[in-house]
Amino acid sequence: MIQSLLIANRGEIACRIIRTARAMGIRTVAVYSDADARALHVRQADEAVHIGASPARESYLVGEKIIAAAKATGAEAIHPGYGFLSENAEFAQAVIDAGLIWVGPRPASITAMGLKDAAKKLMSDAGVPVTPGYMGENQDPAFLAERAAEIGYPVLIKAVAGGGGKGMRKVEAAEDFADSLPSCQREAAASFGNDHVLIEKYIQRPRHIEVQVFGDTHGNIVHLFERDCSLQRRHQKVIEEAPAPGMDEATREQLCAAAVRAAKAVDYVGAGTIEFIADASEGLRTDRIWFMEMNTRLQVEHPVTEEITGVDLVEWQLRVASGEALPKRQEELSINGWAMEARLYAEDPTTGFLPSIGTLSHMEINAMRVDLGLQSGDEISPFYDPMIAKIITHSSSRAETLRDLQNQCAGADLWPVKTNAGFLARLLAEPAFAAGEVDTNFIAARQEELTTKPPLSDDALEATIHLLVDTEKAASGALEMSGLRLNAAPRRTVTLDVDGEAREAPMPFWYVHANNYARATRDGHEIIKFDRGYAYRVALHAPRGSGDGGGSDGFILSPMPGRIIAVEVAAGDQVTKGQKLLTLEAMKMEHTLAAPFDGVVAELNAEAGAQVQVEALLVRVEAEEQ
Ligand code: ADP
Repeated sequence: MIQSLLIANRGEIACRIIRTARAMGIRTVAVYSDADARALHVRQADEAVHIGASPARESYLVGEKIIAAAKATGAEAIHPGYGFLSENAEFAQAVIDAGLIWVGPRPASITAMGLKDAAKKLMSDAGVPVTPGYMGENQDPAFLAERAAEIGYPVLIKAVAGGGGKGMRKVEAAEDFADSLPSCQREAAASFGNDHVLIEKYIQRPRHIEVQVFGDTHGNIVHLFERDCSLQRRHQKVIEEAPAPGMDEATREQLCAAAVRAAKAVDYVGAGTIEFIADASEGLRTDRIWFMEMNTRLQVEHPVTEEITGVDLVEWQLRVASGEALPKRQEELSINGWAMEARLYAEDPTTGFLPSIGTLSHMEINAMRVDLGLQSGDEISPFYDPMIAKIITHSSSRAETLRDLQNQCAGADLWPVKTNAGFLARLLAEPAFAAGEVDTNFIAARQEELTTKPPLSDDALEATIHLLVDTEKAASGALEMSGLRLNAAPRRTVTLDVDGEAREAPMPFWYVHANNYARATRDGHEIIKFDRGYAYRVALHAPRGSGDGGGSDGFILSPMPGRIIAVEVAAGDQVTKGQKLLTLEAMKMEHTLAAPFDGVVAELNAEAGAQVQVEALLVRVEAEEQ
């Protein structure tokens, strides 16, 4: 057995590999870039080696530095994780040439599966059904157009060297082919340095189904059943599950047998995944499932397979790399219950999923299994994939597994980094998903409703009032100002600032001593209340700049990111209370910002047409001296 292992990766997958290695008594060596000097994977490893600057091409993608780090620390083997160098046959070969153990397939298998056209031909020859299409050498436009017509529209033009959803064009009809082909070829040449394309039938109601396979150096190959990864956003997986909903035993058997044939065709060693595309317009049928590609590494979504089979796939990788035979035979493997995984990202669904970077000062996730790459206080840097964690559930039924995952996503509290937790919770609450009606267009078809932030629920709002009363008790004046005084004459409602918007909240009948740690955190004078996967900023005053001047200091801040559509005043102007200063367009609505009191415009940082960030100081009104 390997005694020491270098992990050529970062984030959750590096931590995941360290966990198993440690349980097996293997010494672990981490590598890290400048940005990751204090990252979780570095803290968890027995040793860590700095390999360069923050951009991956200067650190995690530099094979020589990684091999040198292994040599310097006496590590015997290198595990590449996923992404980075994991499917780089040259690197795999360099590791082997350096006398180290490569925890992965033979370089020749990686190469064989590297190009989509070559892989499809290999699979077709091995009797694995491949998506109908043309995958030959002839790249003459007229010839390709003829093939497309033969296949039947709509078709998909795919770069043979493509990956990550890039270099693909859907063509609806023959008259569009001549325009789409050169644009796909240009993108392929620019992104992958290879302009060759293949033509495939465009599958209607496509489902992404993949089979986990495993081989050893003794010639054994098994499968560990299928995963369904149909819930995707722009060809990127969001939710994965195992087994696939609606898969009957006979179909599963044929699909998994085809996957094993595919792995045998390349003498596969280690963990691999055969990806298929299914036309689910009439359920899952063996004659409508086709080979798409093979990933020659551990997948992000491997935990769902681990949960249903009870197998630690990283342990198997390390045993196989050490020369051992697979720990189990095919007949010893079976499916136990149902598992699901949700990918928690530092991204903001309300702004088109822009990555959200910064320090993760508050993180509370209560999950059965959560594979983490970060802890509270850690930094999310702009250099790498912004995945925070994978939330994984497993139980005896799909319904229970789904409900658990939904609750755990809704209960993921993070601040100030924005996350997709609320989006995930809502996605998982879709009745069609519960009914197993999945396909790769599922998210796009519901994009609008899934990406708007719902208002803070009444229950959560009421809990927040208690928190505000408690935390502001000491600040004299604040309570009186808002009418929230314990012995004052009762008021029916109070105006709060929730995410910069005025929210009338009913006054509670009585006050309880609220605990500040109950799914909330503080940020300055604001309470951050977590509710159903979203974070809300709540303050005990009317929104600044909302016009009623309640407690305003004259600083008019942008209540949310948006665009200024009109500026009504100039610097130095006299203004009166309530006078319109400017109009902001945000979230498709216009917001008027008005003078909080009589005074003069002391500062003006607003220009019609300009984009502004949340909390940007737009105008400062100064009260005139008496
Ligand atoms: P990449 O290597 O860029 O990830 P893939 O060939 O794996 O590209 O395809 C990525 C995704 O694109 C699939 O998961 C599926 O959602 C969609 N897709 C691929 N081929 C087809 C097809 N023939 N018809 C419809 N959708 C497809």
